[in-house]
Amino acid sequence: MSKKAVVTGAGGFIGFHMVRFLKAHGYFVRGVDIKEPEFAPTDADEFQVADLRLIENCVRCVEGMDEVYQLAADMGGIGYITSFHADVARNNALINAHMVGAAADEKISKFFFSSTACVYPVYLQEDADVTALKEADAYPAQPEEGYGWEKLFAEKLCQYYTDERKLDTRIARFHNVYGPLGTYAGGREKAPAALSRKIAMAQDGDEIEVWGDGEQTRSFMYIDDCVEGIHRITQSSYSEPLNLGTDELISVNGLVDLIASIAGKEILKNHNLDRPQGVRGRNSDNDLLRRTLGWEPLTMLGTGLVPTYEWIKDQVATQVKVIDLTTDTRERTASLEPGLAHA
Ligand code: NAD
Repeated sequence: MSKKAVVTGAGGFIGFHMVRFLKAHGYFVRGVDIKEPEFAPTDADEFQVADLRLIENCVRCVEGMDEVYQLAADMGGIGYITSFHADVARNNALINAHMVGAAADEKISKFFFSSTACVYPVYLQEDADVTALKEADAYPAQPEEGYGWEKLFAEKLCQYYTDERKLDTRIARFHNVYGPLGTYAGGREKAPAALSRKIAMAQDGDEIEVWGDGEQTRSFMYIDDCVEGIHRITQSSYSEPLNLGTDELISVNGLVDLIASIAGKEILKNHNLDRPQGVRGRNSDNDLLRRTLGWEPLTMLGTGLVPTYEWIKDQVATQVKVIDLTTDTRERTASLEPGLAHA
């Protein structure tokens, strides 16, 4: 008989792809989210639209399932998570506390929790030429305000439930995930999507706005590696937090140049120093991941950005065409401009 899994956050970017991955691997899949997927119909066998801040919805969502993939969160790029500490921390604390409690009561066999590199201390990320972060670096703690503190606490909560309620939990700390069918406009998008959108909308030789001086560095993981990694970690016997990311470090300026070369455009950068840029540098140390799984995400950024840029370019073209029929240019530009964008 096929395994039954519930994917929460199945209306969002990673959750949508996780459902697809599990279906392709023979699972019966229930998707749950407060909204349906935005860009394509879900592959899930059933889909519950529910607010997971409420315990009764968490209880209903885990009913009869073997595995839980907890990917629901109130989240976005650096502009979003630095603007709404109270809402983000409260909403995610409610979702995680209720989900882990409901999973333990249902005696779920595996509970996967999506943590983040934002749990790592700010004091270790002050240099663009950063030393890659190891799992043990999370303490002494000084995570990202709001979003990062809540994730660090939720990791602890998983471990308390493993120790005292025998819930078998798995924790991955994602480092910047990108790919097709992710948010690319509206304020919650992250750097690769925000920059792809800006470049798709620009003419050859145009200038685009880049947040900060662009020398801040990050590593980025392609969505296919992310969902494969989630599944590998969940099936492994390792229950401590593990990094899930690549160690291919690049500056935001480098990211702009890479996307511009994929687009075949010359793009100039207008650095806006008043916009948030997050920590100065962040990279993933994959040593423990490699030793634990014998595997790590290997898709190079220059490879994964090709389908990502193509998808965003098509979205932008379709949207501009639709809006062109109904509105004037001022409204068209406003509808595709970010409120608060990328990490
Ligand atoms: P996303 O915003 O695309 O998906 C999250 C989903 O959670 C959304 O569809 C949203 O509607 C849903 N959600 C929010 N509040 C809810 C509620 N009250 N009830 C039910 N559903 C609710 O984000 P994503 O990039 O797919 O992220 C998935 C997970 O991975 C999150 O836990 C996030 O913190 C984590 N993560 C993502 C990244 C990244 O780069 N994308 C990096 C680190 C960690």
